Amino acid sequence: MSNGDKKKRVLVAGGAGFIGSHLCDALLRQGHEVVCLDSFLTGSHQNVDPLENHPDFTLVEADISQTLPPMGRFDEIYNLASAASPPRYQADPVHTMMTGVVGTNNLLELAARCGARFLQASTSEVYGDPQVHPQPEDYLGNVNCTGPRACYDEAKRAGETLCFDYLRRGSVDARVVRIFNTYGPRMQADDGRIVSNLITQALKGEPLTIYGTGEQTRSFCYVDDLVRGLLALMNVGETPRSPVNLGNPGEFTINELARLVRERVPAAGPTVHMPLPQDDPQKRRPDITRAKELLGWEPVVPLVEGLEPTIAYFALELGVEAMPKMPTPDEVRKSV
Ligand code: NAD
Ligand code: UDP
Repeated sequence: MSNGDKKKRVLVAGGAGFIGSHLCDALLRQGHEVVCLDSFLTGSHQNVDPLENHPDFTLVEADISQTLPPMGRFDEIYNLASAASPPRYQADPVHTMMTGVVGTNNLLELAARCGARFLQASTSEVYGDPQVHPQPEDYLGNVNCTGPRACYDEAKRAGETLCFDYLRRGSVDARVVRIFNTYGPRMQADDGRIVSNLITQALKGEPLTIYGTGEQTRSFCYVDDLVRGLLALMNVGETPRSPVNLGNPGEFTINELARLVRERVPAAGPTVHMPLPQDDPQKRRPDITRAKELLGWEPVVPLVEGLEPTIAYFALELGVEAMPKMPTPDEVRKSV
């Protein structure tokens, strides 16, 4: 047990997903007991298979928007359960909304019954297509509540509302993190997000798909940095009574990201431009002042470093024999 902490019983909803499975790993490494609850909507057994025989790990297959199965008491509950990729959350928008609202409420009720501390994975999407840049937590956002992204954005906004209402009435010690674009090993190769799309396309020698001009920006956080931030927010003594942004402030256009991938995977096909999806945010970068002050947290893995293990992971997944070309330090310096 690290830091002399007591062993905790922790629920990770969405624990078989990309971020959730890394969080399960980290909690088990710290010596806690972990129950992973997942419906496998977008997660995979492969992400948690290595944990199956761990004596402190239990897998429960259930949907958080339905009545929860009996699981016993918890000290902490992390709610990461939600499809996160635009094509996946738009595939069944009503279910996405129910997951974010009814599912979050079900988990908050469970937390209230157990006296568990609660961490809600919200998103930079609550800022919509932002008119303030970079985005601090007190920016109220610019979300189209009737567009195709609304099922996710508005569900996450309502999820935050529920957390702060449970907190205000004193029934749950709830904490809300607004996660900015996060990437790394165990993203689903086919879930449609930019990092996984570009890398898998490049490794297969296919064209790189760029929506719109590619001049829209995102800020990419490596998963290890993010998980460290989630743990810090759950463990901070005084409950922050406001959301906390977690993300890497390094901002890149999609064209720049494609160039970085192409430099590392020279087999990539040509760039093809496709229509920009409706309501696609034009820019995004976190203001992480609050996370630095409250948690002493900031990311340490720059994009050029985090791309290496991510590309290596997808190469293995796709069975691509030739490992990607590793850039020389000189090439890395020129590309930043
Ligand atoms: P992911 O799709 O890999 O993981 C989500 C997990 O939740 C999957 O295992 C899925 O099967 C499960 N799930 C979905 N709906 C469920 C339901 N109704 N009941 C039970 N399980 C359900 O996505 P991720 O990137 O790991 O995202 C994890 C969380 O972080 C999500 O809540 C997402 O909204 C949030 N987030 C992620 C990012 C990012 O860039 N990765 C950015 C902002 C917010
Ligand atoms: N995007 C792209 N090509 C792709 C997938 C995504 O150009 O194959 C763009 C998308 O339009 C958006 C950005 O990349 O501007 C990030 O998309 P992603 O789906 O990863 O995340 P989000 O839009 O939720 O930030």
